[in-house]
Amino acid sequence: MATSQRMLRFVSVDKQMPDKRKAASRIADFQEIYAEFETARATEQAGRCSQCGVPFCQVHCPLHNNIPDWLMLTAQGRVEEAYEVAASTNTFPEICGRICPQDRLCEGNCVIEKGFESVTIGTVEKYVTDQAFQNGWVKPIKPPRELKKSIGIIGAGPGGLAAAAQLRRKGYRVHVDDRHDRVGGLMIYGIPNFKLEKPVVERRTRWLIEGGIEFTLDVEIGRDITLAELRRRHDAVLIATGVYKARDIQAPGVGLGGIVPALDYLIASNRVGLGDKVAAYDDGTLDAAAKHVVVIGGGDTAMDCVRTAVRQGAKSVKCLYRRDRQNMPGSQREVFHAEEEGVEFVWLAQPEAFLGDSRVKGVRAQRVHLGMPDATGRQVPQVIGDSHFTVEADLAITALGFDPEDLPVLFGEPKLDVTKWGTVKINHRTMETSLPGVYAAGDIVRGASLVVWAIRDGRDAAASIHRTLSQPQSASLKLAS
Ligand code: FAD
Ligand code: SF4
Ligand code: SF4
Repeated sequence: MATSQRMLRFVSVDKQMPDKRKAASRIADFQEIYAEFETARATEQAGRCSQCGVPFCQVHCPLHNNIPDWLMLTAQGRVEEAYEVAASTNTFPEICGRICPQDRLCEGNCVIEKGFESVTIGTVEKYVTDQAFQNGWVKPIKPPRELKKSIGIIGAGPGGLAAAAQLRRKGYRVHVDDRHDRVGGLMIYGIPNFKLEKPVVERRTRWLIEGGIEFTLDVEIGRDITLAELRRRHDAVLIATGVYKARDIQAPGVGLGGIVPALDYLIASNRVGLGDKVAAYDDGTLDAAAKHVVVIGGGDTAMDCVRTAVRQGAKSVKCLYRRDRQNMPGSQREVFHAEEEGVEFVWLAQPEAFLGDSRVKGVRAQRVHLGMPDATGRQVPQVIGDSHFTVEADLAITALGFDPEDLPVLFGEPKLDVTKWGTVKINHRTMETSLPGVYAAGDIVRGASLVVWAIRDGRDAAASIHRTLSQPQSASLKLAS
């Protein structure tokens, strides 16, 4: 079949995702909810792309992936080449294919969306990369030559790992430190298995180690090693520590037992899935089984909590959010999945107090309507007088977002400039912080964001570090100290 006949098939071929498991079956385990694309369906779906001259999908992908090219190669059955193209701009295409909110990024901007529905870009990206792993096309990084310079990276999340891979490709010695006992950051301990199975992340960790990247785990910079010491050891340092301080909720009764922060809850669930012993799960503190669960918040973290609680066997799961469905920050696709799995959303509701003696028994809330937009353009929730109601809760999970830790204090580096929100200030052209030779990437710069943006930042930081260190007179930190 000629290329033109293979493509542009959106008129004759309907959009089809890989088979999705029925809600009743998927809530019985923590496995991913979509099956693998079969080759014939992947080829057919890739062929729906109309090969736009100005591909808006690519413009709206944070990595500017060359989407039309890999779709065409997949449609032609040239999957290994499709993988090469996908991997040239994305360090972890199989991960983005699984967990990017495509409805807000590439697919949401596909021009054939109106009436014909977008091309299933994410699932094709996942398909070609999973195929590449299965067929042995993913080779360990092999630098053309070994350089004498070394880079220290703080944080083994997607930002740090993407930078590590790019720098290793150039031949630098790369050493990554992380305070957790596994590599992956929030990809391993935040995001649940049913969105991203852990063997997918572990496979990448092995790939990074085989490529010569060194890791030290269970080490916290600021506590076990100072930033100053890291700067002495390396020619450049990258801070990619993410944001972890849970935003508090101010309400009477907030100190009662049974009210837990979202990330504590999700980390425990992920650890149990990985086979770890977790005391706070075993004693029931972080286990939703047989409980009435209320999750407060409307972002992706809240969606992960409600869907985890369903899988743990909660009696009921409600999500309380102060805005409506259209104005929530979380992905609509995730809300849809949660509803299918039996989660009840209570929109336009704001918690007022936690009820109970020593343990929470309920959450009292008030109805809200959306008023005039504020300076950011978002409509401000306004409480409707005398609209109180109570929802039963044995476990209340707060998912109100995350702030950065106080890094200048933690690192003992008052000269590390931060913004008023506590995120690290960088020169956006070079990704360098106020400390010479120290760069930053990912959530610690942007605030809580997405894996794909952390990858983009990590790659940009690596390029900038390489540009600086490859200059003949580069003032490396080791030489300067
Ligand atoms: P992180 O992934 O947070 O990694 C930072 C690493 O630094 C961690 O391993 C941490 O242990 C380590 N660290 C921190 N401080 C120190 C220190 N002092 N010393 C040593 N190590 C340190 N994004 C999506 O795209 N799709 C999703 O579906 C999605 N779901 C999410 C669900 C949840 C529950 C959460 C919390 C986030 C989700 N995100 C999602 C967001 C995404 O996970 C983050 O944007 C991304 O992981 C940020 O990458 P990062 O490398 O900047 O930081
Ligand atoms: Fe879409 Fe994310 Fe892949 Fe970019 S990286 S093409 S936004 S799924
Ligand atoms: Fe293909 Fe849609 Fe991208 Fe156009 S916008 S190139 S149709 S995927």
